Amino acid sequence: MPGVFIDVEVDDSIRDDAELAMKLEEACPVDIFAAPDGRVEVVEENLDECVLCELCVKAAPPGRLRVRKLYDGTALEA
Ligand code: SF4
Repeated sequence: MPGVFIDVEVDDSIRDDAELAMKLEEACPVDIFAAPDGRVEVVEENLDECVLCELCVKAAPPGRLRVRKLYDGTALEA
């Protein structure tokens, strides 16, 4: 089930970045990222656990990953 409060947008240009996929998987404290086969995957059922720590945004290249707060229309992005 997709998140109700949070959505994470991953740019296609970083979807196949295996190193980044591992980094995101390790960085997120609530397991919103997985790295199957070296791909960046968003674990939709965990989206609403997001604590807005920005670790994923900081780990990704600028402008390639956004955490959208669906409840107020703003987003965390680098
Ligand atoms: S902001 Fe923090 S908790 Fe939310 S998806 Fe990114 S790393 Fe995970």
